[in-house]
Amino acid sequence: MDKFVVVIAESEHGELTLASLECVEEGREVADQLGARVQVILCGSEVAPLAEALAAHGADRVTVVEHEALALFSADGWLQALAPMLLYTHPLLLLAPDSGQIRAWLPRLAVRWRLPLVGCCMRIGIVGDGYPEIIRHTYGGACQERLVWPYATLVCAMLTPGVRGVGAPQPGRQAEITVVRPELDPASFRDRTLQTLPADPRTVGLNEAERIVSGGFGAGGPEGMALVKQLADQIGAALGGTRVAADRGWLAVERFIGSTGQIVAPKLYMAFGVSGAGQHLSGMTGSEVVIAVNSDRTAPMLKRADLGVVGDLHQILPILISKLTEILQ
Ligand SMILES: Cc1cc2nc3c(=O)[nH]c(=O)nc-3n(C[C@H](O)[C@H](O)[C@H](O)COP(=O)(O)OP(=O)(O)OC[C@H]3O[C@@H](n4cnc5c(N)ncnc54)[C@H](O)[C@@H]3O)c2cc1C
Repeated sequence: MDKFVVVIAESEHGELTLASLECVEEGREVADQLGARVQVILCGSEVAPLAEALAAHGADRVTVVEHEALALFSADGWLQALAPMLLYTHPLLLLAPDSGQIRAWLPRLAVRWRLPLVGCCMRIGIVGDGYPEIIRHTYGGACQERLVWPYATLVCAMLTPGVRGVGAPQPGRQAEITVVRPELDPASFRDRTLQTLPADPRTVGLNEAERIVSGGFGAGGPEGMALVKQLADQIGAALGGTRVAADRGWLAVERFIGSTGQIVAPKLYMAFGVSGAGQHLSGMTGSEVVIAVNSDRTAPMLKRADLGVVGDLHQILPILISKLTEILQ
């Protein structure tokens, strides 16, 4: 009988979340080590067309759980739809994004079935005779913890979004796709989502942002940070920064990036007046293209950058903003 690593995928506004694709790719690596297959379960309404993208990122089997009552998230609804499915699947490991929605229902299932549930996971490996080994961050990211279960048990692991980034899809890759239509009782859902709004790129969760413009201590104060924000708004990027900028009150605490802050993996990361301390770099290593402006040519951030500019951000930012205004008009 085939053995499966099961991944729970999520969609938002008709698209798979990046965190889901990261989980599929992580699940693929774990399954390869175990000689197992990857089964992805996707729950929602009219989400079946997304199955091919899951295959392209490493799924061998995609089970789409479709019901009109699942168009908007409900923890009760997801539990009703997924619990029987998971019971039938007998996964070797259950992997899901560490998202708000997953946190609303998976812990309830773990308690019901007395399974270990691990959040804030950074890496999942296999040791010994096939036992899961999880590296997770703890104490607000100040420490890393290694957990191993040296006996056979199903572990539910929630992977922190942004920690591994999403690799290139393999377009021709095929998976066995099944659409399941469960019988649900929507009247029994005690919670329901009334509406979901598309994310504003400026306020989006940093770990989902495609572009981030960051300011550090080199911004010199709230005025400098306002310039950084102006650029972010102009190019539809999310505002981020360093812990020092957040500690000074120039940036909301939930927007600083690094080992004790947000882990991000945008397509574009622009850093202004950020030195590139190890604790900051470890939160943005997954960035695809990095542009840094720093007055100190020896700053580590310039070494990490694909395009580094040595100069004063107070001179460079106004020029950049006015040039972009001309181009974007
Ligand atoms: C346990 C622990 C955990 C931490 N976790 C984090 C974390 O998660 N995230 C994080 O960011 N930090 C974290 N830190 C802090 C980290 O060590 C650094 O102190 C911090 O990242 C530095 O922030 P910065 O780059 O804004 O400031 P600085 O290191 O002071 O750098 C400012 C930079 O701006 C440049 N600059 C100055 N003026 C200008 C100008 N006019 N134009 C252009 N460039 C200019 C300077 O050359 C310098 O490179 C942590 C520290 C500890 C001890």
